[in-house]
Amino acid sequence: MPKQKLRRYDVLTIFPDMISGYASESILGRAQEKKRIDVRAHDLRDWAEDKHRRVDDTPYGGGPGMVMKVDMFERGVRNVRGKKGEKVRVILTSASGKTFTQQDARRLAKYDQLIFLCGRYEGVDARVEDHVADEAFSIGNYVLTGGELPALVMIDAVARHVPGVLGAKESLAEESHTEEGMLEYPQYTKPPVYKKWSVPDVLMSGDHKKIEAWRKEQARHTE
Ligand code: SAM
Repeated sequence: MPKQKLRRYDVLTIFPDMISGYASESILGRAQEKKRIDVRAHDLRDWAEDKHRRVDDTPYGGGPGMVMKVDMFERGVRNVRGKKGEKVRVILTSASGKTFTQQDARRLAKYDQLIFLCGRYEGVDARVEDHVADEAFSIGNYVLTGGELPALVMIDAVARHVPGVLGAKESLAEESHTEEGMLEYPQYTKPPVYKKWSVPDVLMSGDHKKIEAWRKEQARHTE
């Protein structure tokens, strides 16, 4: 079998500890042990210019709150970017970005390295999206306090499509949001009756043709 290439996911944030905890558990943790993926969190303050390691400043034109500066994002990306010739994508987390989908997860799983940029405060200097990032993603129509959860959401969804990350038990087949835009059919496990809630008879029938037809009928289209 050809050796699988290690995929690297770098997260630039002012809260690196938020990333390492999640990424070291369960499927992502095992995928790191198996050298399928490598998730690294970096402290943006390491690339700040001044001695106070300041990463934000007041917005030009006035307004409330603070804006994250462009320079430490640019230096950070330059420092963590992998070798020449590798496929790298730089992703800004942004409440106003395009909505991240399963299709994006599948597409981004083919890159050797993804670099995620996490904003905080009132957001990020617009020059980061214009000149440093390749694309900007929102994970949904709501505003979070920072880009760390969005970065983890995207890493989790992308990593599941990296060969060897999911074991045989956690197959990608027959999941929601397939290429055909289907959602998964309802799943049941033991006991057959709980309180008065019973599992549909067809699933207990042992008739595989009938079961398949029932599942097809139950699976809904996403659009
Ligand atoms: N003022 C910004 C606005 O109205 O769009 C919101 C800034 S938010 C408080 C701070 C950071 O959290 C953003 O720069 C972004 O990195 C991240 N963020 C918040 N909501 C997000 C979402 N739905 N998807 C992706 N990133 C998000």
